[in-house]
Amino acid sequence: MKKLNVKTGQRTEMLDITHQVQKLIDNSQVKNGTCTVFVPHTTAAVTINENADPDVPKDILTSLEKLIPHNGNYRHMEGNSDAHIKAGIIGASHTIIVENGRLALGTWQSIFFCEFDGPRTRELWVKIT
Ligand code: ZN
Repeated sequence: MKKLNVKTGQRTEMLDITHQVQKLIDNSQVKNGTCTVFVPHTTAAVTINENADPDVPKDILTSLEKLIPHNGNYRHMEGNSDAHIKAGIIGASHTIIVENGRLALGTWQSIFFCEFDGPRTRELWVKIT
């Protein structure tokens, strides 16, 4: 398993990490297989979505904030319940096909690390098989 460090700069943010993950595949011996990306945090997540228009990740974050506001009426004492809920909805992992040494993503798709309680230094765990 490989680990990527992801430094986030905002409380909520979607960072395109496709190139870092592709680099790990480039450095591996795997030409055809799968790549699993996993976020080992309870207030961050990983998703695949559009990379062409930067307004798409912004709309996703804005809509999540509308659905699950930071200052909602929650029981969790730490004050970051919204981040736990958002992370749960988006999810902690994805598996992507590796074909001819490349991530098999659609033209407009990128892998995004989703921060919901930053800024922090996070990890992304990657297994290429
Ligand atoms: Zn918490």
